[in-house]
Amino acid sequence: MTTIANNLQTVKQRLAQACAQAARPAGAVELLAVSKTFGPEAVEQAAAAGQVAFGENYIQEAVEKIVTLQERGVAGLQWHCIGPVQSNKTRLVAEHFDWMHTVDRLKIAERLSAQRPEQLAPLQVCIQLNVDGGANKAGVPPGEALALAQAVAQLPRLVLRGVMCIPEPADTFEAQRALHLRAKAVFDQIAAMGGAGLEQFDTLSLGMTADLEAAVAAGSTLVRVGSGIFGARSTPQEKE
Ligand SMILES: *Cc1c(COP(=O)(O)O)cnc(C)c1O
Repeated sequence: MTTIANNLQTVKQRLAQACAQAARPAGAVELLAVSKTFGPEAVEQAAAAGQVAFGENYIQEAVEKIVTLQERGVAGLQWHCIGPVQSNKTRLVAEHFDWMHTVDRLKIAERLSAQRPEQLAPLQVCIQLNVDGGANKAGVPPGEALALAQAVAQLPRLVLRGVMCIPEPADTFEAQRALHLRAKAVFDQIAAMGGAGLEQFDTLSLGMTADLEAAVAAGSTLVRVGSGIFGARSTPQEKE
């Protein structure tokens, strides 16, 4: 077995245990493999081990990888954009991804909807929340999330699937869980609102390698795991 296949198995065991600990059904939480900074070979290895959903942060890098894998005939993968996206990159996202997790402005959502190609299924989107108030941080404050969700839900070529959050790192399980619960509370508020465009609102994108147990305890339905699967990244990049 490859290291990646081994790591995948370990992460799935962690997830299963976290679900059991939280009295949630096994399989209640989907695993997104975050392949940023790793090449197409790493994705191929994970895909060979059964992984379908992959997350990417840097649009240019991601598009090259997606196209390379298509050319190699690796089919059936699902691509999630989880990095910040500026207006001039929305077209690439609309044309190449299945999911977009970081919608935090209506303008970005409108562009994605307008640019989504006819022949593709609607783009599945999450609204990114900023639950700790960092002024320079991406994400919409909880108090503005409902209005944004309502507006995004009306866009014809998007399907609003849920919310996503990257809380500040915290040292203890309880501190991590408390932050994740803030995102869960907003998720519940939007879900309770219901109505047109919210029929498929079912995704709470929360948790990474370091805090996936706390995220599962708080109700995450999708964890985004990079280093736990692919190993340490050589360059912790902040660029887009
Ligand atoms: C890089 C990244 C991850 C994965 O982080 P790991 O700590 O490597 O698991 C998850 N979510 C987002 C938004 C990221 O940028």
